[in-house]
Amino acid sequence: MEEPGTRIVAVSNRLPIRLVHGPDGWEIKRGAGGLVTALAPVFRNRGGIWIGWSGGTNDEDLAGLMEPASREAGYRLYPVPLSADDVGDYYYGFSNEVIWPLFHDLQTRCNFKPRYWQQYLNVNRKFAEITTKHSGETDYIWVHDYHLMHMAQSLKELGIERNTGFFLHIPFPPADIFMKLPWRAQILRALLEYELVGFQTMRDRKNFIQCLRHISSGIRISGRGPVVTVIVGDKRVRVGAFPISIDYDAFARDAESKEVADLAWYLHEALPDRQVILGVDRLDYTKGIPERLEAFKDALSRFPELQGKITLVQVVVPSREEVPEYQMLRAELYRLVGEINGQFTRSGWVPIHYLYRSLDRSELLAYYRLAEIAIITPLKDGMNLVAKEYCACNLEENGVLILSEFAGAAAQLHRGAIMVNPYDVEGMSNAIHQAFHMDQEERHDRMHRLREVVHHRDIFWWVNNFLKAALAKDLRAFPAVEDYMPEIPLAS
Ligand code: UDP
Repeated sequence: MEEPGTRIVAVSNRLPIRLVHGPDGWEIKRGAGGLVTALAPVFRNRGGIWIGWSGGTNDEDLAGLMEPASREAGYRLYPVPLSADDVGDYYYGFSNEVIWPLFHDLQTRCNFKPRYWQQYLNVNRKFAEITTKHSGETDYIWVHDYHLMHMAQSLKELGIERNTGFFLHIPFPPADIFMKLPWRAQILRALLEYELVGFQTMRDRKNFIQCLRHISSGIRISGRGPVVTVIVGDKRVRVGAFPISIDYDAFARDAESKEVADLAWYLHEALPDRQVILGVDRLDYTKGIPERLEAFKDALSRFPELQGKITLVQVVVPSREEVPEYQMLRAELYRLVGEINGQFTRSGWVPIHYLYRSLDRSELLAYYRLAEIAIITPLKDGMNLVAKEYCACNLEENGVLILSEFAGAAAQLHRGAIMVNPYDVEGMSNAIHQAFHMDQEERHDRMHRLREVVHHRDIFWWVNNFLKAALAKDLRAFPAVEDYMPEIPLAS
């Protein structure tokens, strides 16, 4: 039995909910993005805590909203209040103009402003203070993602003892790119303050260890396999590769529902006698969407038999729309879609159906179910959950996955997918042609293989692996409770 009071305290930049100001006041909505899709259902009703930014700024009084939001989410939520300056320099600045592009190998997009770093430290300290306030010494503090790499160090600076682990959801870049970061040594040393540091792939883990070798000559590695111990001076840190995943059973079950099946049928009816090739991405320059549109255009030109027989459904989920770079990308996508549709559309066939909005779950699953081909070609991606969701929903096992070599998912899915270099427009165009003509037997063999991997390495496997490495425990040590748990008074 667990000692009373032991809980998982998840800490991430954003809470897993969004507070939206509607006509009747504040409304609580589910948060967006891969982290929430993956983690929220797993932690639900296990008596845990989630700490993060609500998305608003200081002036809003959110205290009264947290109780109903916690009840709805299934864990107690504590917001970290951020000022407009915090949001500007820590979130938009350091996180999104420095770490995000650098860690996706796009260093020319980086803006290394010194004041961003200062505010990153300040905000990490705020997160550490709130975490200290709402956790006890027996709790496990599981920190998520690149916004909070400094948090364990901030806790230490506050003199707080906690058992801490960190998981990086985005890639970790090779040393020749990482070493351009003006604060490279500080970030690496801060990461060494966690007891466990998790990455998506072995490649990310290898990159991290190589970077450590640049700042310290005396580093030793002990152990083998996905989790090893790195010894730097008097520090021992466990470092592992834990590819994140999805709740496979939930996706497969929901994809089978009548609602999704009917919607899939209805949507495909409107596209008779043709194969649907599906792209689903957040609006982001790392997702390789313009390159993919160019590849589709190239395929229509070089393989004219595809014309009238294939339709690209490209879903782009709005993201970071306040940022000029993202506004420019949005405009570029509209331009490219317009250009391609303008050139190739003919009576009864529009080559690209472009959806610039967030889909509800049934609609998304219906598109996953109906698409004969999925094309997922990020320039670089931590994992890419859409690739795994597509496989889980492909109940007939007749879909083809075209996947970028530079998605974290490639390490697990490369045997069943058609692998492409997202910078190689002609290579991607050839892959579209190959997928279009693939016979049923090969489709089935490949998709069956893909589904087996995603099924066996699902989100529960991921959480259990991380918790085993962190605490020598798995989710069974945090059994589901009937309902959301009221606050447990802390012993300390
Ligand atoms: N997604 C969503 N709404 C949509 C389309 C997609 O919530 O309209 C979800 C999708 O199901 C997936 C996540 O957004 O779980 C995207 O995760 P991924 O790892 O592919 O990329 P990220 O956006 O985290 O970079």
